[in-house]
Amino acid sequence: MKTKIIATIGPASSSSEVLGKMIDAGLDVCRLNFSHGSYDDHLEVMKVVRSLNESKGTMVALMADLQGPKIRLGDFSCESIPLSEGSRIVFSTRPVTGDANRVYISYSSFAADARPGETILVDDGKIALKVIETNGVDEVTLEALNEGVLYPRKGVNLPETSISLPSLTEKDLQDLHFLLDHDVQWIALSFVRNARDIIELRKLINEHPSVNKPLIIAKIEKPQAITDIEAIVLATDAIMIARGDLGVEVPMQQVPMIQKKIIKLCHRHGRPVIVATQMMEAMITNIRPTRAEVNDVANSVLDGADALMLSGETSVGRYPVETIQIMERIISQIEDYEDIYYQHHEPEKSTGPRFMSDSILFAACEMAQHTNAKAIVVVTHTGYSAVRLSSQRPKANLYVFSNDRHVLLSLSLLWGVEGFYLENVESEFRLTEKINSFLENKGLLKTDDLYINVLSTPEWSQGKSNTLRLGRV
Ligand code: PEP
Repeated sequence: MKTKIIATIGPASSSSEVLGKMIDAGLDVCRLNFSHGSYDDHLEVMKVVRSLNESKGTMVALMADLQGPKIRLGDFSCESIPLSEGSRIVFSTRPVTGDANRVYISYSSFAADARPGETILVDDGKIALKVIETNGVDEVTLEALNEGVLYPRKGVNLPETSISLPSLTEKDLQDLHFLLDHDVQWIALSFVRNARDIIELRKLINEHPSVNKPLIIAKIEKPQAITDIEAIVLATDAIMIARGDLGVEVPMQQVPMIQKKIIKLCHRHGRPVIVATQMMEAMITNIRPTRAEVNDVANSVLDGADALMLSGETSVGRYPVETIQIMERIISQIEDYEDIYYQHHEPEKSTGPRFMSDSILFAACEMAQHTNAKAIVVVTHTGYSAVRLSSQRPKANLYVFSNDRHVLLSLSLLWGVEGFYLENVESEFRLTEKINSFLENKGLLKTDDLYINVLSTPEWSQGKSNTLRLGRV
C-alpha cells in the first residue's frame, strides 16, 4: 500500500500482542500522545515497537505528539453546570473550584488577551460563549450563546483571541527533553500559530546533544496557522491536518476545502501531509465504520494524503486491529485508481543549492511514467531524495536504501516509500548492482521489469543525486 497508516497507541493497543497484529495489518507509524499517559507508559510502547521491528524486520516509526498550549476548565464542586442561552458566568484565572458563578480556566493571561465580543468555545464547540467584559487581570464575564452543560476539565478553544501563551509550555519542554533522550523519529507540535513556532522547536532540537534528530510535524488546528500556512509548510518537515480542533476553531464546513488546499501546497513544496481525526470514529465501539467514514478515508487518499491517522479508534477503541484492516482495504481499493498517481505536475521551480538533485528527482518520476518502470531505487543519507520522489506520487514502487536506521524509520510516514537497511554502504564496491540483486532476490524486481536507479556519481561519494540509470532485469 502507498498511503501510510498512523495509529495512536493507548490502553487498547499497547500490548505486544495487539501491536504485533496491528503491524501485520499494515500499521506504519505509532503515535504517542503526550496529552495522556506517563513516561513509563510511553517508554514501554517504545520498547515493544522496537522489539517488534526487530523480530518482524519492519520499519514502524515512532511519533510523539506534544500537547502544546491546550486550554482547559478546572475542577468543579458540583458534577456539572447547566447553562441556558443568555446566562452569564465568570471564567477566572485564579485557582477556584468551579460553581454556577465562576470556573477556573488554565490560561493565565486570558483576562488581558480577551476582547469583548470574542467567541469562546467549550467541549469541542458544544457550548459557545461571548466575552461580555474583562477586568484585564484575572476575570472575564461570558454570556452563553446556546443552551448546554459545562463539565469539569473540558477543553476550551479561542479561535478569535490573540493568545499570548508560548507555543511550548513547561510540560512540552519537559516532554521534549525526555523525547530527545529516547530517539523518536517525529515530534508533532499542537496549536502551531506561525512559522516561528516551528523555528523555535527546531532550535531546541538542534541544541540538544542527541545524534538522531527527530523531524517536526506542524499540527494545523488554528485559524492563525491557516493564514500563515505557506511559511509553516516551508519551515516544517511535515504537516498534520488536525481536523478535531480545526473543525472547532474554524467553521466546520470550511475543513474539507482547507484539507484539499493544504495537501496541494504540501505536494508543491515536497512536504509529507497527514489527515487526522475521526476517520473511523464509529469503530471505537462498532465492528464496522459508517459509510460516510469509508468515504472520508477514500477521499483523503484521493486528495493525496501521505498518511491517515487514527486516534481513539486504536488508543481506547474495541477494535484496533480490525480498524487498520478495514482502512487498508479502503486504501487498497482507491489505489487501483490511476488518477491518484503522478500527473506531470511540476514541483515548485527549484533555484537553491538543491537545484540539480531536485531536477534529477523530478526527471526520475517523469521517466518512470514514460517507461512504465516498476521501481525507482535510491540510496539516501538524509532522506531528502525519498521525500522529493514521494511527493511526486510516482506509480513505480519507491525502494529507498540507507545505512541510517533512524532516517529509514522516519521515512515510514511517507507515501509509497519502502525502506531497506544496508550496512557498510560507504565501503561497498558496485553498490548499485548489489542493491538491484537484493531487490531481485526479494522478488520485488522480476525478469523484464524496468527500473530506475537514482545515483550520485562517483558512486557513494555522499554527493547529491546527479545521475539516472534505466535498467531491465
Ligand atoms: C486534532 O485535534 O485533530 C488532533 C489530532 O489533536 P489531538 O488529538 O492532540 O487533540
